[in-house]
Formats: sequence, C-alpha cells, structure tokens
Amino acid sequence: MELNDLYRRVIMDHYKSPRNRGEMQNESVAIQLNNPTCGDRISLQLQLENGVVMDARYTGEGCSISMSSASMMTEAVKGLTYEEALALAERFSSLMKGADEEFEELEDIEALSGVNKFPARIKCATLAWNALRKGIEAQK
Ligand code: ZN
Repeated sequence: MELNDLYRRVIMDHYKSPRNRGEMQNESVAIQLNNPTCGDRISLQLQLENGVVMDARYTGEGCSISMSSASMMTEAVKGLTYEEALALAERFSSLMKGADEEFEELEDIEALSGVNKFPARIKCATLAWNALRKGIEAQK
C-alpha cells in the first residue's frame, strides 16, 4: 500500500503511540465491532453525558490503519456534542468514499485520506467510526 510519507508517519505514530487506548471504568456504552476481511477488532467505550461525548477509549487489535483510526477518532470526538460527533463521522465516511473533504482542523485524520484509493482497507479505517455511530445512536 502506497501512502505519502507524511501521512504514513502520522498513521504509524498513532499506531505505535496510541491515544486513549485502554479500559474505561465509567463508560455509558461499550460497542464491539469486527472487520472480518482484515481481522480487525475494536471495543469502543464512550462516556456520554447530557448530549456530549465526555470521554472515549478503546481496546482491540488489528492493522495499523484500523488502530490508528481508532486513536485519531477518540482524540477528535472528546468534548463534541452527539450531533457534532455524528457529523464528523459523516465527513469521514465521505472522505473514504473519495469526496474531497478537508480536515484542516484535524490534520491527523486527513492522513487517512489516502486509504480511499484502497477499497479493501476502507473498512479498516471506518471501523472505529462505525462503533462511535452505534454507541451514540444507542444512547440517544
Ligand atoms: Zn485492517
């Protein structure tokens, strides 16, 4: 898989030094999702309060794309309202469909934009975001 160097560095940084990885004690909701085509597994825990994503943590295992995406996603959604978090998930999904979405304010997420050229890996990148969506929908 060929991604440009800068993007690859950002992805590997999140993979090797994951943000928000680990178990949460006081989660409101926990979502487990698998991506069987690649073998990625994620367990996402969200602390949801008064319409806001207070905290997000995850555990799991899988390829660098799936795990770095989970790290980036949990970092990006903390402090967002449900609507803002769902809108961000929607933008990420458009990015994966090849839309020219810009994540200037979230450069790390933009590093995954190259993945949309590799259809087999799109499910890796969207796994954590799908878990986020399910978690919020379950709580609404
Ligand atoms: Zn994967």
